[in-house]
Amino acid sequence: MKKTLIIATHNEGKKRELINTLSSLAYKIYSLKDFPELPEVEETGSTFKENAVLKAETISRLTGELTLADDSGLEVFYLGGKPGVHSARFAGEDATDEQNNTLLLKLMENVPHSQRKARFVCVMAVAAPGIKTITVEGSCEGFLATMPRGTRGFGYDPLFIYGDGNKTFAEMDMEAKSRISHRGRALQKIREVLMQF
Ligand code: IMP
Repeated sequence: MKKTLIIATHNEGKKRELINTLSSLAYKIYSLKDFPELPEVEETGSTFKENAVLKAETISRLTGELTLADDSGLEVFYLGGKPGVHSARFAGEDATDEQNNTLLLKLMENVPHSQRKARFVCVMAVAAPGIKTITVEGSCEGFLATMPRGTRGFGYDPLFIYGDGNKTFAEMDMEAKSRISHRGRALQKIREVLMQF
């Protein structure tokens, strides 16, 4: 019988990417949608790691199941690492991706290419009752476009150009993005961890 793994996210974009990579493992995968009675876990940590551990440990404690949580975001060097852990709510508590992107573009108006460096960071935590929580990290560097391009992905994807290339993440298909992205890199590491349970 397949073991249970809960993915502790409400973000549909993230969920798709996680399931895409983990579906070949011997786990029956659930997400928070399958547990509507669970409370929202507030991201009160000041680092990606603190928030990922908080989410994974809370959901695992409440359900008694193996739980994977990820906390991720975009760090823009010119903005001193912002939006960082506040990436999802950069333009306000219930901000849409479009509002966050608009604010970021405004803050980066007239900033030259050489100062538009940014990186995505993803920390994943796996928690289960009776085990020490395990964390892994993945990151990828690129720079910010001057206007949104592409229709795929989610969040800041239309503004993020990986490496020295010219395609935004929103112009790549999921497989291409996952091979190089912060989440893809963290996922490869966490896949190894999950295979050992
Ligand atoms: P979290 O749910 O607190 O981890 O917030 C993650 C936020 O960071 C998302 O809502 C996006 O705004 C941003 N983000 C994280 N990963 C990605 C990605 O792969 N593409 C685009 N935006 C991302």
